[in-house]
Amino acid sequence: MSLDALVASGLISRDVSLGPYTTYKAGGPARYLAKVRTDEELGVLAAAFQEEADVEVLILGRGSNLVVSDSGFAGLVVKPEGSFAEFQVGEGGVLAGGAVPLPRLARATVDAGYAGLEFFVGVPGTVGGAVRQNAGCFGSETRDWLYHADLFDLRSGGTRRADPDALEMAYRHSNVGSSEVVTRAHFRVIEGDAEASRAELRRITRWRKENQPGGTFNAGSVFKNPSHVAAGELIDELGLKGLAVGDVRVSEKHANFFVAGPDARSSDILELVEVVKARVFEATGTKLETEIQFVGFQ
Ligand SMILES: Cc1cc2nc3c(=O)[nH]c(=O)nc-3n(C[C@H](O)[C@H](O)[C@H](O)COP(=O)(O)OP(=O)(O)OC[C@H]3O[C@@H](n4cnc5c(N)ncnc54)[C@H](O)[C@@H]3O)c2cc1C
Repeated sequence: MSLDALVASGLISRDVSLGPYTTYKAGGPARYLAKVRTDEELGVLAAAFQEEADVEVLILGRGSNLVVSDSGFAGLVVKPEGSFAEFQVGEGGVLAGGAVPLPRLARATVDAGYAGLEFFVGVPGTVGGAVRQNAGCFGSETRDWLYHADLFDLRSGGTRRADPDALEMAYRHSNVGSSEVVTRAHFRVIEGDAEASRAELRRITRWRKENQPGGTFNAGSVFKNPSHVAAGELIDELGLKGLAVGDVRVSEKHANFFVAGPDARSSDILELVEVVKARVFEATGTKLETEIQFVGFQ
């Protein structure tokens, strides 16, 4: 069965605007968007996808680390939902589907009396995105708490269970392939003091409110921090806060966040990234590397 046949069956939609599926709220359409709710649906989709050797694929979480090009993505976008958004918290740890929102997981873990995953409260992505990006903040990274993740490769139909070493998880990096779906992840937690953990959740959310441009369209840190300094500091020291291209500007509150207005185009985000990168390199010799991912750009 082809992808077009799955459009007829209702599993896939065609020409769906991706802007609303990202936190930047910009970008063009996906040629195909599949919302998969079960392992069975994922299997059906994989069988169709394997017949289309030339079609590119993107696994989508909450789009909180993505910039989709204005012309969109001329391939298959796969968004896990349904059973992939379920989780269980217990003595043996937290078993969570790849589509579970991280802040919800953080709060539920604390409510159940466990500690360790509080840092997820400030990361507005999913479990799958966190594994792929080794998301982290406040001194913790996903790899510190992950026993293993289950992955399903849409291209081969194969599965693997991999721990953080096998996933080569490092600072904002893993070897999760572009056609691999993180279906589930098993996290370690520790016995906690619910009051202390709730205070930690409040501390993190307060810090974010005070130091990051909340309520705006952005995708978190634009650049990875070089080993010796925070990227935001380098940008701030050059006086680049407020610098704008079109309706996108370097945040006044946090120089490593670029905030987009309602008329922003993805090409403006890319251009601002290039301008800032060049200015930082010229002034300091440091080559900044992007943490956000650009999708569908030529
Ligand atoms: C306000 C704000 C604050 C942020 N703060 C932080 C922070 O403190 N620390 C941090 O690390 N990040 C931060 N981020 C960035 C972002 O939330 C993380 O990178 C997050 O892990 C991305 O998850 P996502 O589900 O949104 O992934 P997406 O943006 O949808 O995708 C990102 C990557 O993950 C892949 N992916 C997504 N889901 C799956 C899946 N199920 N299986 C396989 N691959 C998948 C995608 O293909 C893509 O390569 C912030 C973003 C915002 C908007």
